[in-house]
This record gives sequence, structure tokens and C-alpha cells, in this order.
Amino acid sequence: MKPTIALVGRPNVGKSTLFNRLTRSRDALVADQPGLTRDRHYGHGRVGSKPYLVIDTGGFEPVVDDGILWEMARQTLQAVDEADAIVLLVDGRNGVTPQDKLIANRLRQSRQPVYLAVNKAEGMSPGMAAAEFHELALGEPWPVSASHGDGVRELIETILEPF
Ligand code: GDP
Ligand code: MG
Repeated sequence: MKPTIALVGRPNVGKSTLFNRLTRSRDALVADQPGLTRDRHYGHGRVGSKPYLVIDTGGFEPVVDDGILWEMARQTLQAVDEADAIVLLVDGRNGVTPQDKLIANRLRQSRQPVYLAVNKAEGMSPGMAAAEFHELALGEPWPVSASHGDGVRELIETILEPF
């Protein structure tokens, strides 16, 4: 079985950009799985000899209830459930947002390993990009650039190490 990696995070952090990079292999297959919601996109990728499946979630589109309660989209929680590893993306140019904190709180309870990817970090020093995100308490943040590719291979190789 190929390990499955779920990409999660609030809207606009670069999940789909990272998904496209991770599935750009020659045999990339990006399609909605029949019988599953269109809110999740599945694609295949490979690093070295290791294949993987990646899920691009629509994001934790928040449901606002009385302006207070934010709930994670059910579909995203299903993707998290199906995954062997989770990548939480945040935006290194925006800093930590309340939504990032809510998602991180939920993911800290998950049984799978969670990797914190600080995206849009091209041109930033890795230490500076990571610094603020330690407060999410998901381990050492990984500065990456989904659009430029910086750090992406190292992150995926690390995620796949146990598989
Ligand atoms: P999603 O909503 O999380 O799927 O985010 P998208 O992949 O649609 O990207 C949101 C915006 O961020 C787009 O304008 C992307 O071009 C931009 N973006 C994504 N990755 C990067 C990156 O590594 N660096 C920069 N500077 N912009 C990025
Ligand atoms: Mg997207």
C-alpha cells in the first residue's frame, strides 16, 4: 500500500500548489475518485523509488456559528482520517492566524505524524520563516516554497522515511 499524505490548512496557504508539485511526475494522475466527494483531490507521486498518494483538501473552510464556533469541514477530517501522514501548511508571509491555531489544536490529537510546513518561504532565511510557528507545537517547522520547490523534496523524503 502506498502511504497517503493529506495536505491541510486554511484557504490560500498553497495546498493546491504543493499538491501540483507533488504530483507532477510523468505518471501523475489527478482525478476525483469515483464515489468520493469532489472536495478532495487525489494524486500519485514518487520520490526516488518511493511512491505515495497525496490528498489535496479543499481546506478547513470554516463554519461560523454565532460568530464564535469554527468547525472543520467534515471532508477534511475524513481526509485526515484516511491519511498515514499529515502536512499542515501555513503561510510564512502571514504569520500564525487564529485559524492555524484551531487546526493545529485538532491535529495534535491525531494518531498520525503531523508535519508543519511553512510555505511561501522562498527568499526568507529558514530560521526566520520557522520562528513564529513553533508556537503551534507541532514540532520543528519546515520552511518550504510550493511554487519554487525549496525544501519540498526534503520534507517528503522525511515523511516517507518510515514507509
Ligand atoms: P490553497 O487555497 O491552500 O489551495 O492555496 P493555493 O495553492 O491555491 O495558493 C494560494 C495562493 O498562494 C496562490 O496565489 C499561489 O500562487 C500562492 N502560493 C502558493 N505557494 C506559494 C509559494 O511557495 N510562494 C508564494 N510566494 N506564493 C505561493
Ligand atoms: Mg486549493
